[in-house]
Amino acid sequence: MTECVFPGSFDPVTKGHMDLIRRTAGLFDRVTVTVMVNIHKQGTFSPEERIRLLEKACREYSSVRVERWDGLLADYLKEKGVKCVIRGVRSTGEFEGEIGAAAVNRMLNPEMETLLMPASEEYAGLSSSAVREIAAFGGDVRPFVPDVIAEEIAAALANKK
Ligand code: ADP
Repeated sequence: MTECVFPGSFDPVTKGHMDLIRRTAGLFDRVTVTVMVNIHKQGTFSPEERIRLLEKACREYSSVRVERWDGLLADYLKEKGVKCVIRGVRSTGEFEGEIGAAAVNRMLNPEMETLLMPASEEYAGLSSSAVREIAAFGGDVRPFVPDVIAEEIAAALANKK
């Protein structure tokens, strides 16, 4: 069985993340989308909220599950016995960051491979931080997040202002 992990902050999940999840689900038998919790970076949405939103958005994919991890990615992969990590690339800057992170991760866990997937053109400019920024200035975030949770995210962000 082929399996991969797609880790990230997902604060909140966007249509860009979902595009990557859809494409990855077409390549692997099982995909685990993992909310990585960073103790030094308090998110806008709590880890529990991010997981719940992701679970709703991923419900249409039977091979996709959502998990949470509070430590190093390299240790998570070891514990799960999974070798493959998927990361998206939206820009050359992001590419440089990702090859650095992949090299460090391989030092920590030599079994691990990071596969970089280019963002689809229509979503290359989209990020969770852009969604949060749009909401902060009173804009409509619904076109940028999955339809099934769009109202929920818009309402939550309006409350967090
Ligand atoms: P992180 O803080 O780990 O970068 P993010 O939630 O911002 O967490 O991103 C998780 C992953 O999703 C990253 O690999 C990122 O490149 C990818 N990603 C985010 N937005 C997009 C997008 N619009 N298109 C493709 N990939 C994306």
